[in-house]
Amino acid sequence: MLWTPDAEAADASVNCSLCAHACHIKEGTHGRCGVRVNRRGELITLVGDVVTSVALDPVEKKPLYHFLPGSKTFSVGSAGCNFHCRFCQNHQIAHVRPASTISGRRATPDTLARLAAQQAPSMAFTYNEPTVFFEQIYETAGLAQARGLKVILVSNGFMGADLLQSLNRRVNAANIDLKAFSDDFYHKFCGGRLQPVLDNLKAIKKLGWWLEITTLVIPGCNDNPDELRAMARFIRDELGPDTPWHLSGFHGAAMMAAHPATPAFQLEDLWHMGREEGLNYVYIGNVQSLLGASTVCPSCGSVVIERRGYRTRPGKEPGVCPSCKTVLPGVWR
Ligand code: SF4
Repeated sequence: MLWTPDAEAADASVNCSLCAHACHIKEGTHGRCGVRVNRRGELITLVGDVVTSVALDPVEKKPLYHFLPGSKTFSVGSAGCNFHCRFCQNHQIAHVRPASTISGRRATPDTLARLAAQQAPSMAFTYNEPTVFFEQIYETAGLAQARGLKVILVSNGFMGADLLQSLNRRVNAANIDLKAFSDDFYHKFCGGRLQPVLDNLKAIKKLGWWLEITTLVIPGCNDNPDELRAMARFIRDELGPDTPWHLSGFHGAAMMAAHPATPAFQLEDLWHMGREEGLNYVYIGNVQSLLGASTVCPSCGSVVIERRGYRTRPGKEPGVCPSCKTVLPGVWR
């Protein structure tokens, strides 16, 4: 049960546990995500079968670099988000206010799973925060897996513990944003908190989903070198040195449209720092750089998967070093 009536309240309030905000929602009002509403003591979703975006994306765009490299993933997004990131690149669908402005097409889980199976080996829930359209994911993921597809979640990692357990066997891989290593940043820029994300990352690792991390580096906002070094150490110590870490360049968006972009050299310095801290797979994205695109064997330094933009060459034996035959961690087939 991901919401419950508030037994202590005299009215028809409910408590939602889908995410770590744990909203207390009075009758006739909605939670912080704006898309879950208390109607006469029942918490309903406004985006149950609403799909705002569908695309066949390279899996590298999620980004996942150690998961079916070079393949496409059938990507689906709905509307709403439990964060309010000032720099959101998908704010048109994420920050829907009021809910009456939600627009999209209706699609059943069966339709989505069928369309996905015709076009790709995996499907991804992405573009807006999947937590807020949990019901759609739960149904669709089960049907997709029954058709032989792998299921990907791209999330801010702020979901509730029960949601993670519910999705346990229905998700195969996740890319989770670790937006900063400071609670202050999460609070000021996203309307969230850091600790639940850290807890969920550790829980996801335990569930056995293939996990990659993304950090969008915003100059002057979340790029304190000491904090990012602490983040690298958290990834190494709590998630393991083989967890891929994507350092992504910021380009102005939403309320921060005029904010300076991340220079490539800054991400390159962070790439070196991540490697210094013992992370085996640090990647750079969203800027022009010769560093951090391809997957390199940590044993002998040979290129195992070559990437240029979204053009990927996984090699004859994906995930296996062509020189020393080391098998790299990931889901390769
Ligand atoms: S999903 Fe999160 S933000 Fe939305 S109502 Fe539930 S607890 Fe609140």
